[in-house]
Amino acid sequence: TQVPSITLNNGVAMPQLGFGVWQVPDDEATAVVSAALAAGYRSVDTASAYRNETGTGRALARSGVPRDELFVTTKLWNTDQGYDATLRAFDVSLERLGLDRVDLYLVHWPIPSAGLYVDTYRALERILADGRARAIGVSNFLPEHLERLLEETGVVPAVNQIELHPQLQQAAARAFHERHGITTEAWSPLGQGRGLLEVPTVVAIAHKHGRTPAQVVLRWHLQLGVVAIPKSANPRRIEENIDLFGFTLDDEDLTALAALDEGRRLGPDPASFSGF
Ligand code: NAD
Repeated sequence: TQVPSITLNNGVAMPQLGFGVWQVPDDEATAVVSAALAAGYRSVDTASAYRNETGTGRALARSGVPRDELFVTTKLWNTDQGYDATLRAFDVSLERLGLDRVDLYLVHWPIPSAGLYVDTYRALERILADGRARAIGVSNFLPEHLERLLEETGVVPAVNQIELHPQLQQAAARAFHERHGITTEAWSPLGQGRGLLEVPTVVAIAHKHGRTPAQVVLRWHLQLGVVAIPKSANPRRIEENIDLFGFTLDDEDLTALAALDEGRRLGPDPASFSGF
């Protein structure tokens, strides 16, 4: 399987399809990530908060895949925000992953009530300058939060990872990102498997192409031009979710899927979320 890459604003290539590991327990992460690597995924999305960086790193090490063919993302958790705390938390993440650098390091949530995301991001700039991350970015940042970074810091985030699927299409955020050279990355691309995959429009398009609803939804992300990071712990679904390159959604399909946008989040609202 040849997954296309997207070129980030600093020239680094990022696979357009990656593998998410939220809610995979650490003691299962090695087997699950190994299955993903065997299926052809080369990009893995973890986070300090997922508590599975150790198991994920072990799968990367055991895979035999050359480090420069892997794209590893992890994220800075909310309780570690602040310049010095971020540098310390990054060291811990690298240690757990067993790596000397990551490909992408993200601020997991803005937590505007804490007032620390600018200082936090400055620590990411430091990590980038030191060559310990090939790219830096954010997650769950609203345009107003990105505006502050653009005004007060020096490195435009390479990526903003946000909730994005056919029922939350994020047109305004995508347009803002495009204007500023920020790549949009979609979390919960399958809507967490909660209902989206049973929506009649999605099921009908799947039947039409002889594909599954999950494949239709992920193909939609690819044709939208965003990065998607579906999660599954099931080897058959892991393979299904990367088998996206033998069909194309046509204009009629895209029009029908465009009509599913409800603007309703499954996850927290970044404007008010204050962490756990
Ligand atoms: P997802 O949308 O990828 O859905 C995963 C669920 O969908 C699975 O647990 C399973 O129940 C179902 N599923 C998967 N493949 C299927 C298939 N082929 N057929 C039928 N059902 C299938 O949900 P997610 O895990 O929330 O999101 C993906 C990744 O995004 C996460 O693992 C994580 O890496 C990232 N994420 C980031 C944030 C953030 O705040 N930055 C938040 C949530 C998720």
